[in-house]
Amino acid sequence: MRGLKIEVRGIVQGVGFRPFVYRVAREYGITGSVSNDSRGVTIHASGEGEQLYLFLNAIKNEAPPAAVVEEVNVFTEGRPSRYPSFEIAPSSADGGREVLVSPDIATCRECIAELFDPGDRRYLYPFINCTNCGPRFTIIAETPYDRPNTSMAKFTMCPDCAREYDDPSDRRFHAQPNACPACGPAVRLADRAGNTPGGDPVTRAAALLREGKIVAVKGLGGFQLACDATGDDAVAALRERKQRYSRPFAVMTATLEDAWRLCEIDEREADLLSGARRPIVLLREKEGSPISPQVAGGLAHQGIFLPYTPLHHLLVREAGIPLVMTSGNVSNEPIAIANDEALERLGDIADYFLLHDRDILVRYDDSVSRIFKGAEYPVRRARGYAPYPLRVRRRAGRTVLALGPELKNTFCALRGDLAFVSQHIGDMETADEVRHFEEALSAMRRLFSLSPEVVAHDLHPEYATTQMAPEFGLPVIGVQHHHAHVVSCMADRDLTGEVIGVAWDGTGYGQDGTVWGGEFLVADETGFRRGAHLYRYPMPGADACVHNLHRMAAGVMSGLFADPTDALERLRERIEIDDAEAESLLFQLRERVNTPMTSSAGRMFDAVAALAGVRDVALYDGQAACELEAIADGSGEYYDFLLDTSAEPWVVDTRPLFREVLVDLAAGTGAPEISAKFHAAMALAVVETCEALAEATGLDRVVLSGGVFQNELFGGWVVDGLASARLRPFVHRRVPCNDGGVSLGQAVVAAAKDRVS
Ligand SMILES: [Zn+2]
Ligand SMILES: [Zn+2]
Ligand SMILES: [Zn+2]
Repeated sequence: MRGLKIEVRGIVQGVGFRPFVYRVAREYGITGSVSNDSRGVTIHASGEGEQLYLFLNAIKNEAPPAAVVEEVNVFTEGRPSRYPSFEIAPSSADGGREVLVSPDIATCRECIAELFDPGDRRYLYPFINCTNCGPRFTIIAETPYDRPNTSMAKFTMCPDCAREYDDPSDRRFHAQPNACPACGPAVRLADRAGNTPGGDPVTRAAALLREGKIVAVKGLGGFQLACDATGDDAVAALRERKQRYSRPFAVMTATLEDAWRLCEIDEREADLLSGARRPIVLLREKEGSPISPQVAGGLAHQGIFLPYTPLHHLLVREAGIPLVMTSGNVSNEPIAIANDEALERLGDIADYFLLHDRDILVRYDDSVSRIFKGAEYPVRRARGYAPYPLRVRRRAGRTVLALGPELKNTFCALRGDLAFVSQHIGDMETADEVRHFEEALSAMRRLFSLSPEVVAHDLHPEYATTQMAPEFGLPVIGVQHHHAHVVSCMADRDLTGEVIGVAWDGTGYGQDGTVWGGEFLVADETGFRRGAHLYRYPMPGADACVHNLHRMAAGVMSGLFADPTDALERLRERIEIDDAEAESLLFQLRERVNTPMTSSAGRMFDAVAALAGVRDVALYDGQAACELEAIADGSGEYYDFLLDTSAEPWVVDTRPLFREVLVDLAAGTGAPEISAKFHAAMALAVVETCEALAEATGLDRVVLSGGVFQNELFGGWVVDGLASARLRPFVHRRVPCNDGGVSLGQAVVAAAKDRVS
């Protein structure tokens, strides 16, 4: 007989881990106990050597689907405790500071089988769940994750449910949201006036959707707006009422088989689609797909996801058509979560409301992800992911709160080696969004007992988060935007020490009075040197360039032609610009009024899109670049550029590139070919500059970050090019490469600087 003490760390609470251990222990004749503690699960196990070995193996390799085993520490117990059997012991209440709660988990296979089984007592019950699935973060008010601390507290379990909850051999043992039609939450359908049409709410809502109506559905992390994804009129009405004119909508299909009819899906994408997290997955649409072309808004990719709550399963199956399922908000507002909030704020958008009485306690948008180079590549991290912490290589001394950037904001708290990156908050441009930030921050501080000791922020003086930083009354550390990008990717990929960091995005505050965004940094966690950057062009009208792309094109032309009058004349040969606008551009370029210089890579994509006639007015940042990517079609040729190493930092001169674009345009070359040659040139510019930097520094690890790396075509060429140049490229895997990942980098940089100071 031997005795072992086994500590298991990771997502091991609220996911059926103890009953799993109990079952395996019985299988191998192990005696002892299993209990939850403040850091995970602790097991005392006594048995024969061989059986103990098999037991330990099963713990490591056969954990329940929703569990994530991060660490298994095994200690030999000198005197094995003599237990008569194996038991589930009460939790030890030692503070609970480090207990990790699982994110919300999509309805599991067993529950779906019961949901559609006419003989089951939960047949068609929209709130069926078990220890392996169901809501978690969206219903929790306090830790530990026990029913009285969730929005299920107001529902008292009926005797049948209570029996399941108390039985260790039942798959609903300690399933906190356990419920049934007799005792749990219920759905109802309401029209705009709050009146309830007769009939079964889900069946009726599905019929209304088939008729082309817009229905607001209370989901897991907030309301969603649903309509028929194959109906042009329904989609157009939704766009008009939501004031969302071009950003793509996501589509929910009932099953993976249905999704296959719409999009190209490989094995990894199928796994991502049907896994427990259920993000919206960006996929290539199949030719002849019945989805209305208005859904994707002209982009090459379609966002598809599968049902992740029983209510979604019932609704989408009953509707029998793919449904647009998009955040329940008007543009630039946080997603609605409460019933009356939805009726008020979505009253002009939705025709009907599918409501229920289980409260959503924290707002979570749907997550967006994709597969890139064989693995997950997150785009927006929210429901199903956040704020479950990421483990990082370098521990923080004092706890850091990083406030994140202005757009696509997330914030991040770094305590020890755990980085709690918040859910996607949005753009911090309205009072409502700032309130959403504050709500999410106070929820996170409460749930994880986080007490920040240091605050990190972006250097941009006008960002809401920068202005918020001193209000905490703590030491503050400013972190340059692109340094944060690079270190975010390092932390994401467990890298420490010096690397070559490529940070290409739309905009970021530079320390030299210019707008950065095409940066090559030689960096580690504590600092960076600007190794190289893209050639700088003026941005006439500054931020106006982000939306009026011909303005950026005018800036580029003024880099090619010394005389601004010449530059504008040549531009007007390509793009129609009225006299008043031309006058204003000329004035700004000549006098350099409200005309900062920028090395932004994102703006270069905009300028080419404008010159090639792809788009002149962008309705959201990055729209033109996405469209340019979508049309690219070339023969492997690329434009020329020049790496100027005569002074530091080096400059990647793109003027030869744009001169060739003009030659192509004059020769009547089409936009698809121009786009392909441009993408290839930009990718090659990254590869060759990194090669030169590697030569100069002896470094061979290259981290790739910034929103421009969301461009699959460009990013793919960069990764392949670096690999064939015998460098080691690293892309993001756990947080987005866009500004949604910046807070992680800010936190790690601030922790490193705090340690040094
Ligand atoms: Zn389940
Ligand atoms: Zn019940
Ligand atoms: Zn950025």
